[in-house]
Amino acid sequence: MAGDATEKLKRVKAELRYVTLPDDSQLERIREFIRKKFDASEVRLKLTEDPSIGGGFILTARGLIYDWSNAGRTGQFEKLIENVLRETQYDEKDLLDILKAEVNDFELHAESNEVGRVDFVGDGIAELKGIDHAEYGEVVIFDDGTRGMVQNIEIDKVGCILFGREQDIREGMRAVRTHKRASIPVGDDFLGRVINALGEPIDGLGKIKAVSHRPIEFPAPGIVDRKSVGVPLETGILAIDSMFPIGRGQRELIIGDRQTGKTSIATDTIINQKGKNVKCVYVAIGQKASTVAKIVSTLKKVGAMEYTIVVSATASDPAPLQYIAPYSATAIAEQFMYKGDDVLIVYDDLSKHAVAYRAISLLLGRPPGREAYPGDVFYLHSRLLERSSRLSPELGGGSLTALPVIETQAGDVSDYIPTNVISITDGQIFLESDLFFEGQRPAVNVGLSVSRVGGAAQSKAMKKAVGSLRIDLAQYREMAVFTQFSSDLDPATKAMLSHGEALMELLKQPLEHPLSLAEQVISLVAANNKLLDDIGKKKVGEFQKGMLEYMEKIHGDIVRTIDQRQMLDEDLTEKIINCVKEFKDGKWKEK
Ligand code: ATP
Ligand code: MG
Repeated sequence: MAGDATEKLKRVKAELRYVTLPDDSQLERIREFIRKKFDASEVRLKLTEDPSIGGGFILTARGLIYDWSNAGRTGQFEKLIENVLRETQYDEKDLLDILKAEVNDFELHAESNEVGRVDFVGDGIAELKGIDHAEYGEVVIFDDGTRGMVQNIEIDKVGCILFGREQDIREGMRAVRTHKRASIPVGDDFLGRVINALGEPIDGLGKIKAVSHRPIEFPAPGIVDRKSVGVPLETGILAIDSMFPIGRGQRELIIGDRQTGKTSIATDTIINQKGKNVKCVYVAIGQKASTVAKIVSTLKKVGAMEYTIVVSATASDPAPLQYIAPYSATAIAEQFMYKGDDVLIVYDDLSKHAVAYRAISLLLGRPPGREAYPGDVFYLHSRLLERSSRLSPELGGGSLTALPVIETQAGDVSDYIPTNVISITDGQIFLESDLFFEGQRPAVNVGLSVSRVGGAAQSKAMKKAVGSLRIDLAQYREMAVFTQFSSDLDPATKAMLSHGEALMELLKQPLEHPLSLAEQVISLVAANNKLLDDIGKKKVGEFQKGMLEYMEKIHGDIVRTIDQRQMLDEDLTEKIINCVKEFKDGKWKEK
């Protein structure tokens, strides 16, 4: 059909038989399809209403049929071909082959208005029938405007989680594909606000202007796109910054039983970012609304809300919202990271997140595994935490530091979810009930806590000042157990015990009192040079406070030098020791 037929080929006549007339944009797409298919410059499309096909439409062009009708899909296909055969010169086998190939091909174009029907709804889950091409993670919209996300694809049905009220969804209701993945509005205006997992404000302060949308699930940056962790993210908590430093882009787990101060460490870290140009995102998953309100009011009180976004999916929110909340929050944080900012994100907590996911998975009919969690519960958290990173300078050099929180039962870190998350993160801060109740707060267990990359990010001043703190504490703990019941100890043991006690006292820190680098360095230098050992256990805290005030007031230059140069040399150490002695013999004695 080449040669002089070319001219004729350019104009194509086609017929579209339909039940409901396609809209203009659909018609344009059909025309475009024919144009491409036959290399035509002009398409004459004849529209014929034909209720006999039952639904959908049939397109006939140049002897070929593109069938997207109910009739075609339910076995009347052959009959239609017979009709066409009578009118064309193709033999049967040829036409069947062509048609099958073309119909398969054409499905890709015709599926855009695929509609399914609700077969089951309940517990935040809906099952749809009739949507065959829906993809995992795709958003579907129900007739009443409620959105859902496809999570399960089975042979004859599709399982979705619902992002709205399921009360308004009825069996038989229609649901349409959107071809879009779930996304969330993002932008600078979100700072200072409390939002839900869908990005809607819940603080009653009115609408939030979004600059764009970001998908809630987003691939983590690859190795080439990353830079190694090298800048510290200071928590302001002496016990952490000295022994388990956290770097920007790191993921450090906060793990401990209930009521051991996990949330407090996270919020104190947020408070310490004031004036340090770090944006913070706090995600509450499965917590009481009152707890979240308390955290927000604390952050407001100290002026930390200005650079913080709180994403809240409380225990009373449906499980699907609790499930997507950390991903949504990460998307909001990523917006800042890819702009080149440093961001801190707190996931409080991932144990409840795993529980919400387990509920959804069981409802969706997925096979339960260990402790009834689904098989992909590791992937649930790994794909979330992998998104934390420090980007290379070419990508703007932003960073996302994550502090996930995990609640243990009776201090058991070898449980399923805790071990999973421990193996994903770059270290953990282990909080212990016993320490907490003894009054050692923050209740950091020095032996079980670790930071696998933060050391590279620790400032030189801090590295020098820390000295042998960890070893001294370990020795003290060992010794304290042995000497618990003996009364007469040799002087060397006594000295070691009182040194250890002074160190433990020094690591106690009240809430909302972050220490600057200089304050931490001065405290450590004083302690490591045994200047606190003879103060008396009960007075260490008071002494430290007085000492730091004295240093700030009388020797401000030393404080400034440490904070600016972040270095500590012999000379400076000597100066600090002298000043502390000066305070101890002067002001402290006078008291
Ligand atoms: P939950 O398991 O309920 O989430 P949690 O482990 O997050 O608890 P927090 O809520 O942070 O613990 O703290 C529990 C209580 O301990 C709070 O009342 C808090 O004020 C107190 N607390 C935490 N850290 C300290 C501290 N360093 N000094 C004094 N009190 C503290
Ligand atoms: Mg908590």
